[in-house]
Amino acid sequence: MSGLVMPEADAATMARRAEIVADMRIIVPGEGVVETVNEMRAFETDGLTAYRQLPLVVVLPETTAQVARILKYCNERNVRVVPRGSGTSLSGGALPLEDAVLLVMSRFNRVLDIDYANRAVIAQPGVTNLAITHAVEQDGFYYAPDPSSQIACSIGGNVAENAGGVHCLKYGLTANNVLGVEMVLMSGEVVRLGGSHLDAEGYDLLGLMTGSEGLLGVVTEITVRILKKPEAARAMLVGFSSSEAAGQCVADIIGAGIVPGGMEMMDGPAIRAAEDFVQAGYPLDVEALLIVELDGPGPEIDHLIGEVEAIAAKNGAVTSRISTSEEERLSFWAGRKAAFPAVGRISPDYYCMDGTIPRKALPTVLAGMRQLSQKYGLGVANVFHAGDGNLHPLILYDANNPGELEKAEEFGADILRLCVKVGGVLTGEHGVGVEKRDLMGEMFSDTDLDQQMRVKCAFDPQHLLNPGKVFPQLRRCAELGRMHIHRGQIPFPDIPRF
Ligand SMILES: Cc1cc2nc3c(=O)[nH]c(=O)nc-3n(C[C@H](O)[C@H](O)[C@H](O)COP(=O)(O)OP(=O)(O)OC[C@H]3O[C@@H](n4cnc5c(N)ncnc54)[C@H](O)[C@@H]3O)c2cc1C
Repeated sequence: MSGLVMPEADAATMARRAEIVADMRIIVPGEGVVETVNEMRAFETDGLTAYRQLPLVVVLPETTAQVARILKYCNERNVRVVPRGSGTSLSGGALPLEDAVLLVMSRFNRVLDIDYANRAVIAQPGVTNLAITHAVEQDGFYYAPDPSSQIACSIGGNVAENAGGVHCLKYGLTANNVLGVEMVLMSGEVVRLGGSHLDAEGYDLLGLMTGSEGLLGVVTEITVRILKKPEAARAMLVGFSSSEAAGQCVADIIGAGIVPGGMEMMDGPAIRAAEDFVQAGYPLDVEALLIVELDGPGPEIDHLIGEVEAIAAKNGAVTSRISTSEEERLSFWAGRKAAFPAVGRISPDYYCMDGTIPRKALPTVLAGMRQLSQKYGLGVANVFHAGDGNLHPLILYDANNPGELEKAEEFGADILRLCVKVGGVLTGEHGVGVEKRDLMGEMFSDTDLDQQMRVKCAFDPQHLLNPGKVFPQLRRCAELGRMHIHRGQIPFPDIPRF
């Protein structure tokens, strides 16, 4: 794997591979264990395809009891485990390790309960995000968080990554729409956090679990909130001659107290690539395009469209179109939703970044990105969840040119450093994984990281669950103890050290 340092494989585990595979077959009989190199190839990477690694063995359990037995077995024998949903992570969260069991949750694929009285759905973690909406849409309901990958990504992966999407500006991220989970700890214990009720007592462990990137436990059941579909929705396409003007328009819309159902922005290269790909009707002579969707009762939408038009005009909008039919609204979104594959047509490879900034810093960051693009000699196309300040720069490169992937990675790291410098964060929705792991020090002090590691150690003291992800290399429960011994006094003596 190019340049990526992962935890060294444990020789004792590697030597016991045949025994571990045989034991996995006992726990998960039938076709639930995949062990040949050819069959395991399908699992060697996730959405961050720059990195690949065959796992020790792939195990696909079907029940919580099987997951509990696998984790207990691995915990007792010091075997690492990497959880995986659909494998669409863009930060390498599900990247296998040579000496780890890859625990694939895709056979947990049933919607277990639809509870309209509590507006909740209980689903197994391998159910796709979109399948939850499909299960309730005939009754006028839907599940709001809508990652672009929703046709494929699992709801378990969404919880682990705190996934977001176009509609999260108004309706919240996964964290705001998950009511409860059943999860298995590395020890094999099964715990329940939250449920169909609105609030839970005690510490917000559900909040802690959401976005924990497979480091704290394996989610085996999820209760999500569903919403009634809005009465109507209309989308606007507003074009600008500069990204800065479009960015200011976004800030002014939010500043006026308007919360659109979705507010997305694309820059010139992304607009032209998307239009060429799906013919969404985007103007080609603008440098930035906003898609603003307003939803709710018809008269409210009409009123808000008027307000947004006025704000856009004040910011120098050069084109404006409002959808007049559901078909047209969907066509406005089709270009945005196809933006990633569309960019794939104009460059042999692209590297999708994910950072979040305060909205008002957008002009500064865009200008900085242009300078970096010149410095590295690589193009960049931009697609943003503009309302949330969540950027997705797509760095264009050619992996066949020696050194270009490394250049793209360094360019991406500089963009994220810039995001942190202007008061933003390293990730908006794609997670830290292996991709941003070594940049965590840009954002957190050693003390911050130690505190986060103490949480990890409380759940998984031997550091067996998804190691090598999120924490900069070489931080482990044991090192935590070693680093902070003051005058012979061991802090937190109750935390186990190995
Ligand atoms: C084309 C494309 C578009 C995308 N668009 C978006 C977007 O708009 N918004 C967005 O947020 N993301 C987006 N993503 C990223 C990705 O789809 C999300 O992060 C998604 O939540 C990952 O789900 P998954 O099932 O594929 O998880 P995986 O990739 O399999 O795993 C992701 C992480 O979750 C952990 N994990 C998975 N299942 C479990 C479980 N049951 N218990 C504990 N841990 C688990 C894994 O260990 C890993 O760390 C996109 C990806 C692609 C390829």
